[in-house]
Amino acid sequence: MENIGFGNRWKKWIFACLSSASISILVNGSPTREFTPERGVRQGDPLSPFLFIIAAEGLNLLVKRAMLSGHFKGIEVGKEKVIISHLQYADDTIFFGEWSRHNILNTMKILKCFEDLSGLKVNFHKSNLFGVGVSNGDLESIALRIGCKAGDFPFTYLGLPIGVKMNKPTHWLPVVDKFKKRLAEWKSIFRRFLKDGKRTAFWHDRWLGSFILKEKYPRLFALDTDKSCTVFDRVDLAGSSFSFNGSWLHSPRGRSASDMEELSSLIENFTPPQNTNNVTEDSWLCTLTDSDNSFTKQVSANLDMLRLQPSTVKPPTKRNRSVPLKVELFVWRAKLHRLPVKLELDKRGLDLGSVLCNICQDSSETTEHILATCPQVKAIWLDFYKWWNFSPPAELNVADLFSSSCSSSLSSIGSKIWEATKWVCGYSIWRYRNLKIFQNQIWDIPSILADIQLSSFKWISGRIKKAQIQWSQWLINPSSYCVVTSRVGTG
Ligand SMILES: [Zn+2]
Repeated sequence: MENIGFGNRWKKWIFACLSSASISILVNGSPTREFTPERGVRQGDPLSPFLFIIAAEGLNLLVKRAMLSGHFKGIEVGKEKVIISHLQYADDTIFFGEWSRHNILNTMKILKCFEDLSGLKVNFHKSNLFGVGVSNGDLESIALRIGCKAGDFPFTYLGLPIGVKMNKPTHWLPVVDKFKKRLAEWKSIFRRFLKDGKRTAFWHDRWLGSFILKEKYPRLFALDTDKSCTVFDRVDLAGSSFSFNGSWLHSPRGRSASDMEELSSLIENFTPPQNTNNVTEDSWLCTLTDSDNSFTKQVSANLDMLRLQPSTVKPPTKRNRSVPLKVELFVWRAKLHRLPVKLELDKRGLDLGSVLCNICQDSSETTEHILATCPQVKAIWLDFYKWWNFSPPAELNVADLFSSSCSSSLSSIGSKIWEATKWVCGYSIWRYRNLKIFQNQIWDIPSILADIQLSSFKWISGRIKKAQIQWSQWLINPSSYCVVTSRVGTG
């Protein structure tokens, strides 16, 4: 990154992202102690591909230098004699070069050099050697020598077949299919907007309700004399009411007949979307918005809702830096219901034996239960409120407990401290829950509360120095650091 010219601050950020990760492995359903990975980028981390590209840039430079010094010869392409030596796409690299032992061995040297420099390893078992106009024997002997496979044409690169004549339409089919698949995903949120029905396919477009008629009534579709008929062909508009005007190979019987009745009544009750103002012909209408057809912020938010689980698009938790990052992250996960509570693990197919709460053995363990409503947990919260000299809410729930609700009686630092202490309380409850499950530690409410008092003091007093929190006072009544003391006006 330094060579490419990234600034120091940026490098620090990236390094922080890489080094702050900790990993815990599930062994028979129980997580191990967390540890920090020391080598390489993480699989599935959105940052990894970007870092990889930066590292791969090193390979690009190495090849270019090898070309300049004459150690590697690319191939000339076209009238302009453009020299191509290699193509890179993410972790996919192709070298092009003259077929000579010298060239191939130098390619290997370049790769070796790259391995030593970057710490990345080239997987030769996944690599192929191709020869154009080279005998099979030659190809195989060299492939064997450098430890990779001899490849055959055609092969696929970036989803495209290489080594076949692309002027044959059938060879484009995989590409066409890919696009179709992607489009279908998008089309599913759009519905045909009808003006006259002449440009809308009766069976194939989504114009009536949320489904495609071909899929909902396959028997009727099979019977239609014209599979590509339009809505205009099949629906009669008499006055303001619609009626179905089917055209069948033979009249529908049995289940097809009842399907037809159902479809007829659907069409008779059909009311087309009302915003007909500036639309002159059938067009796609996004069903996620009811204002107009433009792609607004709202549509994009709706799209997110559709594609992501609703819970993941909740507004993020406000940060509170008076606790360690791990506590902040814990609260964030709790609010998004992302903690590995038993019921969630069970839903994901983990065999836990029982989904009952380990502490009360009375209800299934959900996020709400383990952090708020379990009687053993509730007792901690009640003691916690007593310690603060605040009256507890009538009903405990995760959203309220961890929200940054501002009470007018708290100073601004005070509300930070109050919120942070609640977060530490939740974090400690979760920690002791884990200690009980994985280390059989007993659930002792007084000692858990003592731990909450100590941890919150350690973390908060160190981070909000301005509050000048003293341990003895903290233990007796932490709210004395938070409540606004009414100031007497000095005249
Ligand atoms: Zn319980």
